[in-house]
Amino acid sequence: MSIVPRPEFPEHAVVREVGLRDGLQSIATIVSTARKIDWLRDAHAAGLREIEVGSFVPARLLPQLADTAAVLAFAKTLPGLRASVLVPNLRGAHGALEAGADLLILPLSASHAHSLANLRKTPDEVVAEMGRIRAARDASGAKTILEGGVGTAFGCTLQGEVKPAEVLRLMQALLDAGADRVSLADTVGYANPRAVRGLFEQALRIAGDRFWCGHFHDTRGLALANAYAALELGVARFDASLAGIGGCPHAPGASGNAATEDLVFMLQSMGIATGIDLPELLALRARVADWLAGEPLHGTLWRAGLPKTLAAAVAA
Ligand code: ZN
Repeated sequence: MSIVPRPEFPEHAVVREVGLRDGLQSIATIVSTARKIDWLRDAHAAGLREIEVGSFVPARLLPQLADTAAVLAFAKTLPGLRASVLVPNLRGAHGALEAGADLLILPLSASHAHSLANLRKTPDEVVAEMGRIRAARDASGAKTILEGGVGTAFGCTLQGEVKPAEVLRLMQALLDAGADRVSLADTVGYANPRAVRGLFEQALRIAGDRFWCGHFHDTRGLALANAYAALELGVARFDASLAGIGGCPHAPGASGNAATEDLVFMLQSMGIATGIDLPELLALRARVADWLAGEPLHGTLWRAGLPKTLAAAVAA
């Protein structure tokens, strides 16, 4: 029997709330700007310091996110908050730069079929767009961080297999084109912990400090296991959405992102600091659940609440 070395977990981890973008874009209910502002204010009060607040896409495509500029303007008033937005192209990036987003994410789908269906561009055309966005950012003098998010990194409902070598090639190409950071996303819940270990190990070798974030969907119940696998490699930033809302229009039946409250619970119960107050987060979840009455919600912690052991640790 061989002895496996114990993983070195990070002392701190950052959870980026993406419910206001990834979550709401796949839900029919349109949440008012006033409620989004309440959501942001309470998420910030609960200790979240990175939030994806919306997407600069034409309002006719995503009416749920048509108020992104207003939501971002409010987010910028919250001290210490890094507000991210998603942009599909250079036009959206101009909007994000003008509005002063702290970070913009350009999604790239490593699956050729998913890329054409979702963005109507090949993955390499998206890489070229990152080059144009970098030039625009540098010319504008904005401090906005540019993140290239490589999605369908573990497979895709349209194409099936997505080869790891292609994912890594595109990640390198995004960095070469001027991305400041790169991330990996399991958009449709095809990953498993072993596959995460294999791909993330290589991604970290390529991107080093420029590797930013793991984004796991819980489509088949493995989001937390996959986050754990990345955590073992030292990845310390994860996307998640409150109540696990989210999905993908090209992934039928897809349940949402990793639930923020469950992920924070896992991290804190492992002794990894997140700076987030779980009782406050659960109170916000209850409010969001009211606003989204009738929509499918996910997550587990809210049913049973916090165990006494963690409650004592939080009080200490
Ligand atoms: Zn997602």
